[in-house]
Amino acid sequence: MREPILLTPGPLTTATATKTAMLADWGSWDSAFNDITARVRRNLLGIAHAGATHVCVPLQGSGTFAVEAAIGNLVPRDGKLLILVNGAYGKRMARIAEVLGRPFLVHETRDNEPADVARLAAILAADASITHVGLIHCETSTGILNPLEAIAQVVAKAGRKLIIDAMSSFGALPIDAREIAFDALIASSNKCIEGVPGMGFVIVEKTAIAASAGNSHSLAMDLHDQHQYMEKTGQWRFTPPTHVVAAFDAAITRFIEEGGQPARLARYRDNCDALIDGLTELGLKLYLPRAIQAPIILTFHAPASPNYDFQRFYQGVRALGFILYPGKLTEADTFRIGCIGAVDRAEMLQAVSAIARVIREQHLLA
Ligand SMILES: *Cc1c(COP(=O)(O)O)cnc(C)c1O
Repeated sequence: MREPILLTPGPLTTATATKTAMLADWGSWDSAFNDITARVRRNLLGIAHAGATHVCVPLQGSGTFAVEAAIGNLVPRDGKLLILVNGAYGKRMARIAEVLGRPFLVHETRDNEPADVARLAAILAADASITHVGLIHCETSTGILNPLEAIAQVVAKAGRKLIIDAMSSFGALPIDAREIAFDALIASSNKCIEGVPGMGFVIVEKTAIAASAGNSHSLAMDLHDQHQYMEKTGQWRFTPPTHVVAAFDAAITRFIEEGGQPARLARYRDNCDALIDGLTELGLKLYLPRAIQAPIILTFHAPASPNYDFQRFYQGVRALGFILYPGKLTEADTFRIGCIGAVDRAEMLQAVSAIARVIREQHLLA
């Protein structure tokens, strides 16, 4: 039996070359490891077409650590952050601002409605004290896609700064710093680049990182310090997750060899289509309208049967080799299934067969 396929939004199924890159030990100050760090930072900037305008600051920890670092560094204590919320990760960004004591306000839309660009323009026009706007590009709690280009235009036109949580979209959906103005873009190693968990990174506009000195609420999460130290020494400020960085480097190499972002998006779209077609055929219903559903993670309504129990359904599918993800909505009973990871249509069709079998065996559809 092969190990289960993770149909989750990260950690996800990684390629063998990514896993085997972790079989060596690295000295954190050794020049061979510094070369890996430099290459990872350079390649990440390249993926965002941001080499001329931004810097890439990696940070130990999960994605949330990097979001918290970005808010704490880039929103000054006398700034004000407007957060566009339509799911759990937007709410988490608001909670971060609250914990850090940064002035903030929230504009919330329903979890099946993209952020409202016209309302955003009106809010910015009415409140001159807003300095930054926080956006979740793909809100992973449903997989809804927010209109990044239109939002970035409104924010730039209003003379404010944009902070993008692109955790679950970076590498798969196009984000071009030559066309979209942003102060910070945040992502992590274990999503669409298909590395293993353990580091996040923030792509920060050059004048913004320079201006952020002294803003940080935290020593360990000070991106300005991390950046300065890295520029000076080539090293991470504190112990780096060496194996994670080496695996991330291998994953980025594979990403580039596959054809970069357009190729990754094409594979994920194909995965997404295979899942939607297959599961719809079984009688399951997609939660979001297809036009606003990103090909990253899909939310499906739970089977409409009194026999349905997520834990039992999950265990049934797991026994056949696939790991699903619980829903994250309060208003509807749902489950989620990821399109991302080192998997393609073949695994998606196998997953559909496994789900079909569990639906039959557990009598989940009328
Ligand atoms: C995964 C994710 C995060 C970070 O989550 P961690 O569990 O801390 O890695 C943040 N925002 C979004 C949109 C995500 O998908």
